[in-house]
Parts: sequence; C-alpha cells; structure tokens
Amino acid sequence: MAKQEDLFKNVISHAKEYGYIFASSEIYDGLSAVYDYGQNGAELKKNIKEYWWRSMTQLHQNIVGIDAAILMHPTTWKASGHVDAFNDPLIDNKDSKKRYRADVLVEDHAEKLLQKAEKEIAKAKKRFGEDFDEEMYRETNPRVKRYLGERKEILERLARSLTNEDLADVKSLIEELEIADPETGSKNWTEVRQFNLMFGTKLGASADSATDLYLRPETAQGIFVNFLNVQKTGRMKIPFGIAQIGKAFRNEIVARQFIFRMREFEQMEMQFFVRPGEELEWYEKWKETRLNWHKSLGLGEENYRFHDHEKLAHYANAAADIEFDFPFGFKELEGIHSRTDFDLKAHEEHSGKKLRFYDPELKENYVPYVIETSIGLDRMFLAVLSSSLKEEELEDGNTRTVLKLPAVLAPTKAAILPLVKKDGLPELAQKIVDDLKWDFRVQYDEKDAIGRRYRRQDAAGTPLCITVDHDSLEDNSVTVRFRDSMEQKRVPIEELESIVRKETDFKTWMKDFI
Ligand code: ATP
Repeated sequence: MAKQEDLFKNVISHAKEYGYIFASSEIYDGLSAVYDYGQNGAELKKNIKEYWWRSMTQLHQNIVGIDAAILMHPTTWKASGHVDAFNDPLIDNKDSKKRYRADVLVEDHAEKLLQKAEKEIAKAKKRFGEDFDEEMYRETNPRVKRYLGERKEILERLARSLTNEDLADVKSLIEELEIADPETGSKNWTEVRQFNLMFGTKLGASADSATDLYLRPETAQGIFVNFLNVQKTGRMKIPFGIAQIGKAFRNEIVARQFIFRMREFEQMEMQFFVRPGEELEWYEKWKETRLNWHKSLGLGEENYRFHDHEKLAHYANAAADIEFDFPFGFKELEGIHSRTDFDLKAHEEHSGKKLRFYDPELKENYVPYVIETSIGLDRMFLAVLSSSLKEEELEDGNTRTVLKLPAVLAPTKAAILPLVKKDGLPELAQKIVDDLKWDFRVQYDEKDAIGRRYRRQDAAGTPLCITVDHDSLEDNSVTVRFRDSMEQKRVPIEELESIVRKETDFKTWMKDFI
C-alpha cells in the first residue's frame, strides 16, 4: 500500500515537473479539485480526445459528432432528473469535520474484504502450485467464503437502501461495520444527507429578470435535445450514434485523488440510438467495443475490469463500469449504460415536441432506446499517465525514470538532437525538424550531453530520439533511439518520416482492435 501511495505522489509531482498538470490558479494557492493542463498536458489531452473522436466518428459510418453549449435551458435538467435526483449521500465526521460520501465509505470497506479474499487465494496458489483449483478454493475455503459473502451482503444492502432512499439504513450500515474516518479513525458520524451536485449560475443582467441556470453536469443532455436535428439533417437511420466531447461541472463532495474527481472536468460521451427491444444486444456490443478501444493503447490488459451495477440509475435497464487499476486501486474509468427511452421521452414530455424516429423497415414511429458510453477525459489522462510512469533498473546498475506513453498519444513524437552544438550538426538537425514538423510535433534540443538529453526525453514521454552526428553529414543517416527498448538504429534521413509515422499513427495502434 505504501508503495502505491508513493507511486501516486510520484505521478502528481512528475505531472507538474514535466508541464503536464498544474493546480488551478496556483499563485493564489489553488482551487480545490480544479486543475490546469500545462504545455505537455494540453497536447496529451488533445491526443486522447483525437484518439477517441476518430475511433467514434471516423471508424463508424453511423456515428457523428456535435459540440453543444455548456449552458442549456433549465428545463433540460428537470426533464433529465438532475434537479430532483442528482444527489450524493454525504456524511460528516463530527470530530474531524471532514465530509465523505457515505456510499463510498461502505464501498471501500467492501473492497477491503475483496482484497483480503484475493490475498488468501494468492497465498494458496503459491502453496499448491500447478494443482491449484481456484474455483474450488473460492467455494470451499471458509475464510475466503466469509470475506466474499460478507462483501456481497454489504453491497446488496447498500444498493437496496440507496434505491429506497433509506439514508438512515446507510448510516446504520456504517455504524454496524464500524467504519471509521479514514484520516483520523473517529467513528463519530452525523446523519446521512442528500446533496445536489449541480453548480447554479444566472443568465441575464438585472437581478429580477435573471434566469437560474445550471452548468451542465454531463454532456449527454446536449445530445438528447439535438437528437432530431442531427437525425433529420444528417439523414441518419437507426441504429446511429451521436458523439460529443466537452466540459461538465459537478460540485463533488469529496474531491480528492488529483484529477480523478474534479469539479470541472471533460467527458467524452456517445449516445447510440437503437430499436426498442434491441438495446441489450447493443449494450453487450458496446461493452466489448469500448474495452477493445482501451486495450488498443497497450496500458496492460490486467489493469481493466468490468463492474456490473447492482444499483441501477433511474434511467437504466443495464449498466457497467470499465474500472481501471489506478494507483489507489480499481475505480471507474468509463460507464456504459443502457438508458432505455427515458431521456427522449422525458424531453418529449417537458418540451411538448415529438422526439421519434420513423423506421421505414418496420413502418413504425417510435422513441429510440439508447446505449451510452461515457468516459471522463481527465480520468483517462490519469490512467495513461499513472500506468506509463516507470522507474527502471538498467543493466549498468543505473536507474532511469521513463514515461512510457503510448506513442500515438505522446505530446512530442520525436526529439531531434545534434550530438554537438557545432560543425554543421545543428543546421542539419534543424533541417530535419523543418521537414518533420508538418506532420508531427517534434522538438529540437541541443542543451547538455546526449545521455542527459535522452533521459530528459524519456521522462517527458517522447517515444523517439533522432541523433545527428558527424557521420550524418557524410552518409545522410541518423541514429534513431526508441524510448521503451532503448534500442538504437542507424537509418537514412529520408526514411524518418515513415519511421515516425509507423510508430505514432492512429491506424498502427487501432487497426487490430475494431
Ligand atoms: P463516480 O461514481 O466516480 O462519481 P459517476 O458514476 O457519477 O462517477 P458518470 O455520471 O457515469 O460518473 O460519468 C461518466 C464518466 O465521467 C465517469 O466514468 C468518469 O470517467 C467521468 N467523471 C464523472 N465525474 C467526474 C469527476 N468529478 N471528475 C472527473 N471525471 C468524472
């Protein structure tokens, strides 16, 4: 655990040191749970967006993208249920004055039981070696059975009491499980209360005529209210999808864990409209498609797992999260929801406008059902950053810090390095920069010894270094060094463009995963 905490601290300090993420308005001591992306962070974020956007709107002929406004008519949020039901159950500790999400306290307790069971299983696996039957062990070992049984019971009771809005029972659960304030150990809790997460603001100049608005807490509703505009003007036929990337705002109760839970963040959402009755088939398809998208980036398949929801949101008939193994454990990275016809129907009711599709094959008018895929861009950023940061022992006994970002996402694709700052090497290096810069973000770097420059680029996440030496002037070749393997290859200058393309191209990364 301590090691994991260290890793997380390293990720945060590395993110700052290399211009990825800064606290917002840092000179004024920052703003809680709001962050700014620096010169490298902005590039990485843009590349993640691009990777998602192209996968959605370019690789699927039946998905188009929109960019709706952050401010929406206030009735939108009445229709969507956010005014009445976008609440988190919160609880305060009377001694420490710290505020927590009551459901998260219980879920963390359940997660600990799972970890205990997994630990027992891992120990047994080691002891029994090849002959170990994990399935049987799970079912028969009394300790493992107890841990897993207790966990299941706790999660089921939590789901039940949240669905029934029985907050007193959530409080009882916290007391019965003797859950303590994670920071101070105190068990002196207040009652559990609901707290609406939307940020309010005002539209209009004078106080009396101003209209109360909300900053959108999700991008999805911008898609629903435009469903018919896009369907008609794009001549879209069901099944089809509408994708969107944009800011969302939530007044999160507990906003810790860096960019995992922010008050201002970005979402990449896609709503896929299908025939009623076919939604669960599409739901399964999208679960698989989205997991494949994640796998394509090569961050490690063991870092992902599905979590099927026990407690379904008011609009869903099936829901799962793709969880990622962040430095603080497995947590939600993306949600995939079968939202039924809830949203379109609610907007029909509140607006009085029909939001239907005439299906020429069925010769029928209906309100489509919707499968949503919703991923937090900043959480994806954190997944990429935290799983890429490595301390490596080298053969010569030294260590290096390397940010093994997927090359397709890396802010800088190649650094061009003249071996020395004279003899015409800078000029040739600059020429290479001028050639490559049309297609790739490349960087010229001549300061310090070559070894130090390699290390600097490793730590910044640059996948390729291109070194120009004296021989280059004669043979028109350069040395390409690959960040991850540290392998070096002599190549003709004219091949550089295709080498960089092969390493960093969208197609190279994505083509085996669609
Ligand atoms: P959580 O349970 O972690 O609060 P959620 O279930 O409320 O998340 P959704 O409403 O399904 O999240 O939002 C879709 C996605 O948006 C999430 O999977 C997550 O990646 C991202 N997201 C949600 N809230 C935040 C936040 N406060 N900061 C950063 N990303 C967020």
